[in-house]
Amino acid sequence: MQLSLYLRRNLVAISAVLLLAAVAFPAAVDAAVDRSGHGPNPNHPTDCDGHVFPFLKWLRDSAAEVIFGKPSSAKGYRDAKPSQAGALQHRYRNDVVLRFNVSTPDEEAALAKAAQQLLLDVWALTPEFVDIRIQKDYVSPLLTLLPASLQPSALIPDVGAAVWATYPSKKAAAKTQFESSMIVDPVGSRKLVDGVDNLFFSDYQTLAVITNWMRLLEAMFPNITEMITIGKSYEGRDILALRVGQHSGINSTEPRKTILITGGVHGREWISTSTVSYLLWSVITAYGKEPMITKLLEQFDIVFVPVLNPDGYAYTWQTDRLWRKSRQQTKMRFCRGLDLDHAFGYEWEAANHQTDPCSESYGGDSPFQAVEASELAAWAKNETQNNVKFVGFLDLHSYSQQILYPFSFTCDIDPPNRENLEELAVGLAKAIRLSSGESYSVTSACEGAVAQTLDAGNGPRIESGGGSAIDWFYHELKAKYSYQIKLRDTGSYGFLLPSEHIVPTGEEMLNALKYFGDFLLGNNGIEKVFSQQDASNEDEWKELRRRKR
Ligand SMILES: [Zn+2]
Repeated sequence: MQLSLYLRRNLVAISAVLLLAAVAFPAAVDAAVDRSGHGPNPNHPTDCDGHVFPFLKWLRDSAAEVIFGKPSSAKGYRDAKPSQAGALQHRYRNDVVLRFNVSTPDEEAALAKAAQQLLLDVWALTPEFVDIRIQKDYVSPLLTLLPASLQPSALIPDVGAAVWATYPSKKAAAKTQFESSMIVDPVGSRKLVDGVDNLFFSDYQTLAVITNWMRLLEAMFPNITEMITIGKSYEGRDILALRVGQHSGINSTEPRKTILITGGVHGREWISTSTVSYLLWSVITAYGKEPMITKLLEQFDIVFVPVLNPDGYAYTWQTDRLWRKSRQQTKMRFCRGLDLDHAFGYEWEAANHQTDPCSESYGGDSPFQAVEASELAAWAKNETQNNVKFVGFLDLHSYSQQILYPFSFTCDIDPPNRENLEELAVGLAKAIRLSSGESYSVTSACEGAVAQTLDAGNGPRIESGGGSAIDWFYHELKAKYSYQIKLRDTGSYGFLLPSEHIVPTGEEMLNALKYFGDFLLGNNGIEKVFSQQDASNEDEWKELRRRKR
C-alpha cells in the first residue's frame, strides 16, 4: 500500500512536470534533452554546449525507471531473459510443432483420440488445420494411431530455439532508443509519452512493467482513466484493469454502456496482452484528437484488462514460456492449472468437458472453480448492478487469425442475433485487411476442425467448447457483441511470435476496434467514418491510407 502510494505520488509528479514542460516550452524543448551524454548544468537553462532544461534528463530517466525499474547494470534497464531461460530452451529442445490438415471426420476423430491419449498440447484448431506440439520421440507412436492419410508437416522444427528467441534480449539499444525518443518536439505531450510508447511496444513486457505502465497512464490521463482491480488471482496477484471513458456532461441515470477488452487469458499468448495494451494506449492518446474515439469515450466506457491470468503470465516469464493455464492447484498434485476459457458457468456441463487436470483444456471440476474466471464474472455482475451495461466483449487470444462469435459450446443453437454478429465480425476482418493486408477468418466459436461436416455427437472432438467466456458474457450479461479474436500469426511462430509483430498487430486491431466502436455508435461501419466523399473526414482517410501502406 505504502509502496503504491509512493509510486503514485512519483508518477503524478513526474507526469505533471513532463506535461508542463511540454506545454510550456513547445519549441524550445526540442533541444531540451542532453544529446551529447554530458551532464547538464543545473544552474543554467543553457550551458555552453547548448544543453537546456537539465531536469528533463532526470525526468526522462525517472519515467523509464518508474516503468522498467532501476537499471540492473550499466548495459540496460532490465535483465530481460529469465534466469531459467537456458533451462527452458533445454526443456523444449526436443519438441516440434506439427500441422495436420484434417479433412474428414474419421481423421479428426482419430486425432482427437490420440491427442487425448497422449495428452498432447494442441496449439491451434481451425477448420483447416490442427497444430500440435509434441516431443520428437513421440511422433512415430502418434502416427501409428492415425490414418495413413493424415500426414503432418513440421511447422516449428525447433521449439527450444523459438522459445529462447521470444524473451527480450538484453538491450542497451532499447535504452538508447528510449532516450532518443524522449526528446521532445513541438507536438508536445504526445511525443513525450511516445518515448515510453516506443520502448514499451518494442518488446513483450513483464507483469511488473505492465502494472507500472498502467499506473503511469492513469496518472497522466486522470480525466479519462481509472485503475480498477477486477479481483485477485489464485496466487494473490491483483487482476488490474483501466477503465477509460469521459463521463462529464453525461446523464448518469442512464446505464453506462461498456465494452470489455481482455487479454492474457492464456499465459503464453503474449501478443494478446501486448495488443490490449496497445489498444489502451491508442484510445487514451486519441481522445480529443480523433472525433470517433472521442465520441466513443463520451458514450461508452472501455475496460481494458491486459492480463486476466497474471499467475500464468508471470509463470511464462519466470519458468515456462509455453504455460497456458492458471496456476491453481488441482486435485492432482503434479498437474496444476485450470484453463480459464473452459471455466465459465454458462453451459459448462452441457459440454463434454475435460476431466483430466493434466490436460491443457482442463477447466476444473465445476463451473467457476477457476479463481480468475470467477473473479471476472463476479466483478462484471457487480458492475451490472451499478448501472453498467456490457454491450461488447472482445477477448483476445492467439493464434490463427480468427474472429469467433458465440456460441462456443455447441453448433446446434444459433445465437439470436447471429446475423448481426456475423456481419460485424466480417466488418472487423475487413477493417484488419484494410489496415495491414492480414486475413482473419470469421466463424462460430463452436467450429473446430471439420466440424461443419460432423453431425452432433458423431465421434470425439479435439477440444470441447463449453464454459467459454464469450458464451457467458453473451448469454448471462447480454453483451450482444461478444467475440474471441485469435491474433497473429497463422503458424509460422504460433505463440512464439517475435516482438516485431507487436505494433503491426496492435495497429490492425486498433482499426478493428475503431470499426467496432463506429458500429456501436450506429454509424453502420467504417465505410461511413472513412468515407472519401466526406471532406470533414479527410484526416481519417489520410490515416487509413497511411495504415494501408
Ligand atoms: Zn487462448
